[in-house]
Amino acid sequence: MILTTRFAPSPTGPLHLGHAYSALLAYDLAHAAGGDFLLRIEDIDQSRARPEWEAQIFDDLAWLGLHWPTPVMRQSDRMDVYEAALDALWARGLLYSCTCTRADIAAATSAPQEGAPLLGPDGLIYPGTCRHNRTPTGPRPRGSALRLDMEKACACVARSVEFTEDSTNTRHAYSATDLIEGVGDIVLARRDMGTSYHLSVVLDDAAQSITHVVRGADLFDATRIHILLQHLLGLPTPLYHHHKLIRDNAGKRLAKRDDARAISLFRAEGLSPEDIRSRVGI
Ligand code: GLU
Repeated sequence: MILTTRFAPSPTGPLHLGHAYSALLAYDLAHAAGGDFLLRIEDIDQSRARPEWEAQIFDDLAWLGLHWPTPVMRQSDRMDVYEAALDALWARGLLYSCTCTRADIAAATSAPQEGAPLLGPDGLIYPGTCRHNRTPTGPRPRGSALRLDMEKACACVARSVEFTEDSTNTRHAYSATDLIEGVGDIVLARRDMGTSYHLSVVLDDAAQSITHVVRGADLFDATRIHILLQHLLGLPTPLYHHHKLIRDNAGKRLAKRDDARAISLFRAEGLSPEDIRSRVGI
């Protein structure tokens, strides 16, 4: 099997040093092993994705010296694949529709009898308000959010939910209780998008035959969800390499809104790709 890595930016803002670090690590890992480096545009959030950001991403990555095969996979071209996976999960009774807003969930989890609200990889753990929809009949509803019934999902996977962290060569394993109590009924299809990051990313990593997922440590907690989904959908589990996050001088993690750290600004100031490599420590 050819070692294959990917960089999967969302075209919702400029690439900053943290993205450059992630892309360079993935590129170097593939190239050191004579493998493939792929690019994927994660644009399921069509309300925030912009063609000009996508063009800037291609330009910045090429400037950094990266090469990738074309055409590039774009998530907005793959809605039929996500829909088919949702249909299959729905037919197995693993999804239920949910009409709760963020405010409804915040209110339900902050009720005095609930104790401190529990946070999972996707924010507040769903309190279960819409679980009465849990015995779905008929066709999958369109235009409503769909949640994964975590208890049923755990009961129907035969393989244990575990993965190898490539950066430390450690094994991480999760029990059904870890997932039911620590992750809960996550959204697999958002009402406004028809899919979700978690569902799309596992289907796309499998479609691109990714063997090593290189991404920031901020996504470490989401990986347990991805392994579970891979098992549910019969997809292979790659190795995961979660890298350190690049922080600003105050120690704060860089975000898209930190335009001051945009690669394009460093380029305008006359820095070279080698300067960017040394700033992120590779
Ligand atoms: N599209 C995600 C981001 O820009 C990356 C997801 C991933 O690497 O799994 O943060």
